[in-house]
Amino acid sequence: MMKILVINTGSSSIKFALFQMPNGHELVSGLVEQIGEGIGAISLEINGEKHSEKLEIPNHQRGLTLVGTWLMNPKYHLISSPDEVHAIGHRVVHGGESFQETTVINSEVKEKIKELFGLAPLHNPPNYEGIEVAEKVFAKATQVAVFDTAFHQSLPPKAFHYALPKYLYADYGVRVYGFHGTSHRYVARVSAQYLGIEPQKANLITIHLGNGASMAAVKNGKSIDTSLGMTPLSGLVMGTRVGDVDPGVIFYLEEERGYSIQKVKNMLNRESGMKGLAGDNDLRAITERVANKEEEAQLALDIYCYRIKKYIGAYIAAIGPIHAIVFTAGVGENSAIVRQMVCEEMTHLGIELDQTKNTIRLDEIREVNVADSRVKILVTPTNEELEIANQTYQLLK
Ligand code: ADP
Repeated sequence: MMKILVINTGSSSIKFALFQMPNGHELVSGLVEQIGEGIGAISLEINGEKHSEKLEIPNHQRGLTLVGTWLMNPKYHLISSPDEVHAIGHRVVHGGESFQETTVINSEVKEKIKELFGLAPLHNPPNYEGIEVAEKVFAKATQVAVFDTAFHQSLPPKAFHYALPKYLYADYGVRVYGFHGTSHRYVARVSAQYLGIEPQKANLITIHLGNGASMAAVKNGKSIDTSLGMTPLSGLVMGTRVGDVDPGVIFYLEEERGYSIQKVKNMLNRESGMKGLAGDNDLRAITERVANKEEEAQLALDIYCYRIKKYIGAYIAAIGPIHAIVFTAGVGENSAIVRQMVCEEMTHLGIELDQTKNTIRLDEIREVNVADSRVKILVTPTNEELEIANQTYQLLK
């Protein structure tokens, strides 16, 4: 038995979960928020009981120490000292080309993560901070990095290159890296197991629809293409991010309309996607408005689903015959209407949704296709924290 703490450190937050391995039982999960913002908060769930506490959390070290204190609370018998946490699995967003696999963290690995700050300026610096702090608070634990990009390192050159001047790749590493890899990897494996196929033989299209969204073409268990690129901005329509757009739009706005690059950047990242199209980035709100026959919301949802449909076509062309398409994350798991609109008129591709099964809500993996659909349509709940714990455990075992 091994206790593994998974942490996902953001600029002002630490998301955490403690797992008992190898059975994958989640003992605690929670969130430290508003770090460095005056009064912060920790909220967590232990044995189904919810707790929260507001207090000053000036920095990440204080935040993680607080997590340790909660874990050591004698009432719950989780751990009696920080030394009982065997390993910490860190979510690290960008691994560039340096990391194809989950990796034990040493000083060399830390240097490389630092070198990648430029590729993920919002994510890698806080992830790095999380590592430094965890090394102090849980000094005996093995620190492990699990990269969002690692699963997509199997992309072949024809898929990961942009048609830009070659030196941009050679000198600056400009290429497709892809993201949400931990989720795509997890749902691909779990879905293959559900279908009774060996994971390394599964041909799947995995569709991760959260606030950020991406798809992966999975052939023989490996990612061969994905919709996010060098940064998490391309591909699908997202909550506030634009997805695919003609880069010429940027120059038009700058040269003809006087927009600064900073303004365009902010617009593409925070003011576009569903928010830009319909004023709401939450798909639940959009869905309600669609039910009320609001045209603006309907068009936004049409655009959202049409983009996914186009990628399905592209990925079937890339993979060849597929076993299943897999919906996951907040929208993918919960939105029957999105799944329905995406799968409409795809019978000729062997994809046929069962309207009744599609509307049944369940927290576990399920099939929502008609019985004789050649391609299965699965709804597979993702669990990135568990996957990080799994990867960490496999590495240490
Ligand atoms: P994150 O990318 O932050 O991890 P999640 O995977 O939790 O996000 O997904 C968040 C998204 O899921 C939000 O846009 C939310 O509106 C959407 N969502 C959650 N439940 C539903 C639902 N029942 N119908 C439609 N969208 C939903």
